[in-house]
Parts: sequence; C-alpha cells; structure tokens
Amino acid sequence: MDDEKRIEKEELEITRAFQEILDIYLASQHRKKVEPITKAFNFARQAHKGVRRHSGEPYIMHPLAVARIVCAEIGLGSTSICAALLHDVVEDTDYTVEDIRNLFGEKIAQIVEGLTKISGGVFGMQASEQAENFKKLLLTMSEDIRVILIKIADRLHNMRTLEFMPVNKQYKIAGETLYIYAPIAYRLGLSKIKTELENLSFRYEHPEEYARIEKKIDKTQQERDILYNEFTSPICSSLDKMGYKFYIIGRVKSPYSIWNKMQKKHIAFEDIYDILAVRIIFTPRDGEDENNECFKIYNALTKIYDAHPDRLRDWVNKPRANGYRALHATFMSKRGEWIEVQIRSERMNEVAEQGIAAHWKYKDNDNSADGQLDNWLHTIKEILDDPQPNALDFLDTIKLNLYATEIFVFTPKGEIKTMPQNCTALDLAYRIHTFLGNHCIGAKVNHKLVPLNHVLQSGDQVEILTSNSQHVDANWLTFVTTAKARAKIQAALRREQRIQQRKGEDILNCFLEHEELSNYSNNIEKIWKNRNLKNREELLEALGNGTIVLGSEDKDALLGNKRFKFPSFPFFGKSTKETKKQVTATQFDSIDSKQTLQLTDENLHNSYIIADCCHPIPGDDVLGYYDDEHHIVIHKRNCPVADTLKSSHGNRILAANWDTHRALTFQVPILIKGIDGIGVLNEITATISQQLNIGIQKLMIESRDGIFEGTIWVNAHDVDEVRTICDQLKKIKNIQTIARIE
Ligand code: MN
Repeated sequence: MDDEKRIEKEELEITRAFQEILDIYLASQHRKKVEPITKAFNFARQAHKGVRRHSGEPYIMHPLAVARIVCAEIGLGSTSICAALLHDVVEDTDYTVEDIRNLFGEKIAQIVEGLTKISGGVFGMQASEQAENFKKLLLTMSEDIRVILIKIADRLHNMRTLEFMPVNKQYKIAGETLYIYAPIAYRLGLSKIKTELENLSFRYEHPEEYARIEKKIDKTQQERDILYNEFTSPICSSLDKMGYKFYIIGRVKSPYSIWNKMQKKHIAFEDIYDILAVRIIFTPRDGEDENNECFKIYNALTKIYDAHPDRLRDWVNKPRANGYRALHATFMSKRGEWIEVQIRSERMNEVAEQGIAAHWKYKDNDNSADGQLDNWLHTIKEILDDPQPNALDFLDTIKLNLYATEIFVFTPKGEIKTMPQNCTALDLAYRIHTFLGNHCIGAKVNHKLVPLNHVLQSGDQVEILTSNSQHVDANWLTFVTTAKARAKIQAALRREQRIQQRKGEDILNCFLEHEELSNYSNNIEKIWKNRNLKNREELLEALGNGTIVLGSEDKDALLGNKRFKFPSFPFFGKSTKETKKQVTATQFDSIDSKQTLQLTDENLHNSYIIADCCHPIPGDDVLGYYDDEHHIVIHKRNCPVADTLKSSHGNRILAANWDTHRALTFQVPILIKGIDGIGVLNEITATISQQLNIGIQKLMIESRDGIFEGTIWVNAHDVDEVRTICDQLKKIKNIQTIARIE
C-alpha cells in the first residue's frame, strides 16, 4: 500500500516536471512544437521504466532535468529538448539509434547517436584512451554543436546530484568536469554554467577549502552590502535622470574563482579586491545604438567616480571569441576601493549568460559573435585533421585553445585578427595560413623587425616575413602558444622526418650492397648501436639528413673489428635538398682525379652539391667527394664528415678550388652573443641590411636573464664578405661574441 502510494506520488512528480518544461518552452521565442516533445517524453518514460538513479528517484527524472537545463538555461529549441529527453535511451536500454530514427527522424537520431558515442566520459585508464575519447567528443561537437550543449547539460545535472555517487566516482567526475567541460562551456559562452561547474567540482574535490571560503564570503557580506549601496545609489539617480530603463546587480566572485586567484597569486582571501563587481543591465533608449549607449553610461559614471586609466575593456566593439560583449571599467569608490563595473544591454546580458544559443536567436542582426565561434570551431576541425600520435600532446594542444583570453592585432592592411594572449609572431603566421607559418622567418611589428618568437601585444600591427627556403624547426615548439601552430609544426616535422628516413633507408641499402653485407635487422642494429643511436628510425633519419655518413667504421662494427670510433656530428641546415635534383650525375670514369675541380659561378649549382654538414662558401678550403649517387659533393677540408670520407673512401676524394666572381650568394649562419638592451636587434639588422646592403635570410634570437644569443643567416658572396660583416657587427656596443658557425 505504501509502495503504491509512493509510486503514485512519483508519477505525479514526473508529470509535473514535464509540464514545467513545456511551460518554459512555450514562453520562449521558439516555434511551438509541443507534439514531438510530448512523444519523446512518453517514449523515454516507458523506456526507463522501473529503473532508479543512485539518489533513489525514478530514472526519467534525470532526462527531464537535462531537458529543462537545455530549454531554460541554454535556451535551445524542440529538437534539442527531444534529444535531451532521449539522451540515455540508447545507452541504457535495449532501444537502438535505428529505433530513434524511425520514431523521431534523422536529426534527433544523429544527436542521440553523438551523445551515446561520448557517453563513456573522457577520462580513461590511459592518456591515449583519454585523448581518443576527447577527440571523439570534439569531432561530434564540430558536427553538430547541440551534441556538446546537451552533453554539458547532462554533466551539469550529474554534478548537481553528485552527492549520491560513491566518493571515488565523485573525484573522477569532478576532475573531468574541471578539466574539460568547464573550459568547453566557457568557450561556448555559457559563463553561468561554467561557473557552476567549476564551483561544484571544487566543492567535491576540496570540501574543506570550499567551506572555509564560503564562510568568509558570508562573514564579509554585510560590508559588501554597505559598499554596494553607497556605490550604486548615485549611479542609479544619474541613469534615472538620463531616462534609462535599467537594473543593477552585485556580482560576488564564486568560491572557486576566489580560491583559484588565491592559489595563482599566492594571496590571502582578504587581499582579493574584486570579490564584488557591479553589473549594469540596461534597455537602449528609443532608437539608440546599444554600443553607443554603453559608452554614454560609462561617461556618466566618470562624472561620479574616477576611472582606472588602464582598466577599460571594450568587449562591445570587439567581442571575445566566445561572443561575450560588455564594457568593463574600474572605478574608485568613495571608500578608496576599486570596483569593477560591467555595462551591458539586456541582449548582451542574455548572450553572456546563455552563450551561443542566444546568438542564434539574434543571428539575423548580428553576425560578429557567431563568426568568432565559427572560427574557433574551424580551428578545432583543423587540429583534428592532423594526426596526433602523442596523446598528451594532443590534449595540451586542445586545452591551449579553450581558456585563452584574446588580444587584437592588425595586418598591414589594417585587418583585425583576434589572437590569444602571449601568442608569438609565429602563432599569428600560422593563424593566417599554414604556408605562412611554415616559411616564416620573422615579422615586422609596428614596422620594427622582430624574431619569430616575439610576443605580440594588443594593438600591434604585424607584417609576417617569409622565405621559401625557410623550413620548420623543432625548436619552434618551445615558444609557440597556439594549438594550431603547435599542430601544424608537428605535422611538418613528421613529414620531414619521414622524408629523411626514406632517404636514409636508400643510403643504408646502397652501403650494405656496396660492402656486400646483408640487410638483416641484427646487422642494422649493430650499426645504430655502434653510433650510439636509439633505434633503426634514428639511424635512418641521421643518414637521411647527413648527420652521419656510413664508412669503414660501420663496416668494422658489423664485422666485429674494434677500431677508433668517430663522433657523430651535429647537422646544420637542409638547404641543398632542392638543388640536388638539378645536379647532373657525372660518371666517375670521366673525371680526371688528378686534376683540380674549378668551382665557378656557372657550374657550381648544376655540377656540384654543397655539403649540408659544413656549408662551404667561396674562400673556404674545400675538396670534392664523389658519392654513391654519382654526384660531387663539396665539403670544407676541415669538415669532420670529410675526414671520415678521407679515411674510408680516399679514392673518391677530389681536389677543388674556387674560381667564383661574386655572382652567387650563400646562406651563412653567424652566431651572435651579447648583453640584451633596447635596440640591439635593430642595430644588428640595420648594420647588415642597410649599412652593408646584405640580405638577411633568417634570424633567430633568444634572450634570457639579460643575455641574448642568436643566429643570423646572411646571404653572403664569400668568406671576405662574412669577415666584413663580423667586423662591422663587433663595433656594436654590447655585442660580446660574433662568429661564423663552422
Ligand atoms: Mn545522462
């Protein structure tokens, strides 16, 4: 009898909960499609019949709660409400996506399918699993944004009812929420939900800290109330006089953001000055532009209080990437405390709280915020397009993109680009185009030459400088900050690596064949072990890019002869790849090995290859080496690679002399070290390019603790010219070391 009564009561609750959703939906601006929603509700209700949640309530209360969040807190329409009601049906009952498709059509079925795919959560046992799950989540998200919006609603309800879960599950769910769902909610402009998710996670992960901060907020509330009233009353009368319809609310920082700030800045609760912020939400006056109205209100406020000169944030004309718009300013209260004031129109406020769903509502008359979000989704898609073998890298890459705050930079034509804070010139290059990034040699920021790793500031005008001979460098990964740049650099490096390995494999096979040795894997293992390398791939790569050259040492390693070991040589540059193809092969018989090769401006590039390892230029003492591919490679005589060649293939060494007349230029790396100071870089580049009229090919400078170190690649004709450059640069104050890199 008791049971019967309880069930009766529950059924009533279920019906009431559903009716509430319908009421909220009907009061919204969406089309009144009650029929499919009712159908979805009835279907889900009978599908979950008899099942209960951890809390003990009937399971259907969960989909109902999710549908309510979707409708009331995110502002979505009937399709999303249906999908929310059905979101656990495929996962938890015997019904299939096919069933949903037959009953509710393609669109709803697709969303439910997406939700089912990502229902397992993101955190797996291993990082790789985690990345795979996360990738799945982002993929479904970029296909239909409603999937992730409903997923966030689902997560929000699970967080709100987390107390019923076992404690170990609580940690897992709270951690995952903080790590992934809160940042995504922020990115989609759901700031209210983001704050609640963070706060709930914090409460379950650090219950004591949470309680402590909450208590302090309570204790100081009275003080803040007084401050708030004193501060806002003159504002109210001023806005009244101007004829505004408005309301003001005090926003108190959430325990999580307070705690976060205390951790990050190592400060006490009492030292956080912006616990209270004041929000003015107004209706634009008849026929007035809402953007202008924000500034008019700001203006009125400056007549009452002094504004902080550095804290005006114009998110009105330049919305944040998540679509947020408002005018933020900070004023000095009569009590001597800074108070942040956020000025928003009603519509801006709605967008701020409901995020992109509200954008759709206003889509017809405002596309700017939408465009920002589209851009972001586009970037996510691009990152997903690149294979990311390392799971943790991938997670980092995406995470970088979620919480970034923006700066604005301008192209030379005055076009504006939104970039995350702390991004470098190279990040911008990749943002504009992958090709620009891959060939970027530096930039001009506000007409001044800067290196690739220069950090951009809001308002900078940036011109990206490129060169076709520039190649992606692994070093770049140490300073780029955007997900896109990181992903594109890694992709380029992997491509490069594969090319070098293939080349290396050919070289290795040639060598083994020539020495009449078999290519059994244990033979190859002997070679890479002898060379102190980690594996076969590393050997192939080193061979491919010329870091090592196979010789008698390797033969001895194979045959077990102990001999002197040559060190392996650092490799520099990869410039001759293109020229190699154009070099015509020479038959060894046709070469008179006793004669000296004359290297001229005319024959240099079609008959010879300039060695990658030592980069000889006219004036250097050189020799020629007839290689396996029937090409003559020009090395410096003191080049370590040439040394091994001399001992292993002495019969293939040819004498060579320069007979050039300054018609060709060569890329020469010059090392510079000195004490960092304003204008040093400028002086260096001015000396080379303006005073000496010599081209700079590439430039990479890093500064640490007041000391800078860098490499400049100049286009020089010969050794004499390089000497002149070095002599001139030595005259610059603060430069300590200058040398051509040998
Ligand atoms: Mn669920």
